[in-house]
Amino acid sequence: MGTRIAVELWSGDPAAGQAASDAVLAEMRRVDALMSHYKPESQLSQINQRAASEAVRVDPELVALIQRAQALSGLTGGAFDITYASVGYLYDYREHVRPTDDQVRDGLGAVNWRHVIVDPEASTVRFAREGVRIDLGGIAKGYAVDRAIGILESMGVVHASVTAGGDSRIIGDRFGRPWVVGIRHPDDAGRIVVRIPVVDAALSTSGDYERYFDEDGVRYHHIIDPKTGRSAGEVRSVTIIGPDATTTDGLSTSVFVLGPERGLELVERIGEVDAVIVRRDGKVLYSSGLAAPQAPPQNQPEK
Ligand code: ADP
Ligand code: MG
Repeated sequence: MGTRIAVELWSGDPAAGQAASDAVLAEMRRVDALMSHYKPESQLSQINQRAASEAVRVDPELVALIQRAQALSGLTGGAFDITYASVGYLYDYREHVRPTDDQVRDGLGAVNWRHVIVDPEASTVRFAREGVRIDLGGIAKGYAVDRAIGILESMGVVHASVTAGGDSRIIGDRFGRPWVVGIRHPDDAGRIVVRIPVVDAALSTSGDYERYFDEDGVRYHHIIDPKTGRSAGEVRSVTIIGPDATTTDGLSTSVFVLGPERGLELVERIGEVDAVIVRRDGKVLYSSGLAAPQAPPQNQPEK
């Protein structure tokens, strides 16, 4: 996945603890081998190579995750869209390469989640037209974290934290205290904007500082607005706290694209998630579940 994996867990027996963390890393590698777009032999790459001309048969697990991504596209009005990659592949952040306006215009015709036709019965994926590419980078790490947590739970682990890049999930507490997760400052990895206590929850952050380059005062980064084919620019980072990491990962990318107003609106509508947004001007916004409690109304009769 090209990211740092961290596993922290408690076990009464060191050998069992080691076996549990080994199992997590093996599961991360398995998911990566299935869904990586870097690996030409992965099932995801097979879809990208062949699905414009035939229905490509893949593991039901991959079909299910693509369906989950499609549902998120519906929920976000297309802000989350795995076909963003039809344009997204034209960027190379390491080499400071970005597409021309003409290239973006041509590529955008292929960007639409409805171009991906999934048949869960046959376990196949097909593209409705040429030029479509998909990439699960906005949701796959969260999914891998959820899988890892499932494995730990099946091994009897009750206090653990698993992190892959910006996506974490926590089971239990840290022996009577919550786990505390810091949200970093977008311009300074060593500075914490806010600390959030978490117990039995997942948390994902999407930021414009993960993969990017700057040119003429513009930041070109890896979260792409499917409507424009360009990097979404209204916010610097979005953190979502919710029940599972597939949800929080997908939503952090989505809210990043939607921007602060429409993003917070979505979070409030979903209800079971919360958000911390660092706006482009540095202002930090919170969803209602995290906002500081209001002072109690004055002059109210005591009950
Ligand atoms: P990371 O933790 O890798 O920084 P994010 O959760 O912020 O990831 O998601 C960014 C990744 O999501 C990009 O690298 C890309 O693979 C994918 N992506 C970018 N834009 C979109 C989009 N509009 N919809 C779905 N996925 C996207
Ligand atoms: Mg994400």
